[in-house]
Amino acid sequence: MPEKILIVEDNPQNMKVVMMALRPHGYTLLQATDGEEALEITVSEKPDLIIMDVQLPKVSGLEVTRRLRQMPGFSHIPIIAVTAYAMKGDREKAIEAGCDAYLSKPINTRELPGVVAAMLSQQRKNKL
Ligand code: MN
Repeated sequence: MPEKILIVEDNPQNMKVVMMALRPHGYTLLQATDGEEALEITVSEKPDLIIMDVQLPKVSGLEVTRRLRQMPGFSHIPIIAVTAYAMKGDREKAIEAGCDAYLSKPINTRELPGVVAAMLSQQRKNKL
């Protein structure tokens, strides 16, 4: 079974960029466009990894992450936080909220598949 990746992003153009970067790699790609939808889809689909925009309608990406980290079964899903502003302290805030990695926009589409693959590989080892 291909690994499932949930992409959480409210900007359609950014969503398209991430989809196009990951599509050639054979993953099952799921999409959510706000924080509530991200929580619902994570619970129903149990993705293997989440790419989480921080600035989202309804519930922020950091708050989604905090909530997931408190839920049994969702405390160890790898989460890559993505933020547009890249302000000092963003990385620390993302890690503090429970994210495992942090990328700033514009997303480097050549770098992203490698980051995703490395995190999935680490996660498989942790499960053994
Ligand atoms: Mn956003």
